[in-house]
Amino acid sequence: MSSYPDVMDKLVSLAKRRGFIFQSSEIYGGTGSVWDYGPLGVELKNNVKARWWQSMVRERDDVEGLDAAILMHPKVWEASGHVSGFSDPLVDCKACKARFRADKIQDAQCPRKPSKKPGEHTDCQLTEPRQFNLMFKTWMGPVEDSAAVVYLRPETAQGIFVNFLNVQQATRQKVPFGIAQIGKAFRNEITPGNFTFRTREFEQMEMQFFVDPQAPEGKQTDMEWFEYWKAQRMAWHLSLGLAPERLHFHQHSAQELAHYAKAAFDIEFDFGGSLGFQEIEGVHHRSDFDLSRHQEASGKKLEYTDQVANRRYTPYVVETSVGADRVTLAVIVNAYREEAVPGEQEGRTVLGFHPGLAPIKAGVFPLTKKDGQPEMADKLAVALRKKFPVFYDDAGAIGRRYRRQDEAGTPFGITIDPDSTANDDVTIRFRDDMGQIRVSTSKVADVIAKYLDADLATAESTKVPAA
Ligand code: ATP
Repeated sequence: MSSYPDVMDKLVSLAKRRGFIFQSSEIYGGTGSVWDYGPLGVELKNNVKARWWQSMVRERDDVEGLDAAILMHPKVWEASGHVSGFSDPLVDCKACKARFRADKIQDAQCPRKPSKKPGEHTDCQLTEPRQFNLMFKTWMGPVEDSAAVVYLRPETAQGIFVNFLNVQQATRQKVPFGIAQIGKAFRNEITPGNFTFRTREFEQMEMQFFVDPQAPEGKQTDMEWFEYWKAQRMAWHLSLGLAPERLHFHQHSAQELAHYAKAAFDIEFDFGGSLGFQEIEGVHHRSDFDLSRHQEASGKKLEYTDQVANRRYTPYVVETSVGADRVTLAVIVNAYREEAVPGEQEGRTVLGFHPGLAPIKAGVFPLTKKDGQPEMADKLAVALRKKFPVFYDDAGAIGRRYRRQDEAGTPFGITIDPDSTANDDVTIRFRDDMGQIRVSTSKVADVIAKYLDADLATAESTKVPAA
């Protein structure tokens, strides 16, 4: 049990109310564990993905980008081991028709009596576990026979492995180097749930870093690269403003470690309540397993030639694999807070996002609908929208307008009052401490831009700057 509260139910309702996340096909009763991102959600998730791409691809000269297709040759999944081995043990209850993962039964509840585990109620009739493959199958072309079976990819990594030499030769990268991509993955999960934590359609951000299995004297070894990527990835999560005490590494035990893996750590985030610490990213040393398997199955060499040392070898791979949806959920959980407001009866709900991640950067509010204030506010909103997303709102009491933006995570409120039209200046209100400063209209964009670019390791990010 986490020391942080369980906020998931509150978030599901806030996310719907404010347009972050909706249940898929809701008017038909919803699709099981598939979610749609609304206007604020798509901005938030795009910002998470953009920060990953920026730090993993754009800021580096040793990682290249890729966007491989979801549908791949079916032999890819035979070679990778997914057809024979990508399965979970499934248990059915003949009494209540519920299904459970045999390896997670200790975490599950009996639907007839939630205080008991499946199997503990007198009515329970659990079957023996059977292996259930998590890949979604479909057919390529008009004939629905076994020869036409293709799969929706359950991970993006295989698109990188099969393109290893294409990318290396096109870019003339030398090992060590990496290939990164962001894309959809699909898993027919037996027990999805906890909002967007475990879904059947999700997005991954994966990077495979190819290293020399026998690095020469003076060069970084495979294990040193592994340690390097572990540290880099943890630093990235901190740079999103995730609280340091809610993050830790979980080292895979000998039982958890895949037979080909040399080492594996998960980065876990504390989601609060009974969910507690859960994996958001895996950093895995996969040895030469994947490239070797594809080499054998395809009959094509996937070796790297080191021309200086005159050596050919199959590189080892250090993989970093993170779920875009899961990190986005962590960002929302981390940002959520309810607090009392001095002098007010009603408290407020705040999503204290890092300004760089916030879906809307500023709300623009004319205090009243007269004396040229709406015109001035509209002109400012139009100008600011060229730089970042802005929300214009002229309806209702100003306090209520601030509250709505607090709940949407908008870090700045810009208010145009009677003095503004006379002096050409406005008030900027800071979301986190609700402090205000007065700045000339021409300076607003610069003041805000400083916060958006800041490398902040804290959610307490939008306080009035110290004088
Ligand atoms: P889990 O044990 O939670 O099922 P996994 O170990 O199978 O995860 P990986 O295959 O290592 O996960 O996938 C890498 C990342 O992809 C995970 O850390 C997670 O962020 C994300 N991910 C995996 N499965 C899902 C899912 N069903 N829904 C949302 N994100 C997922």
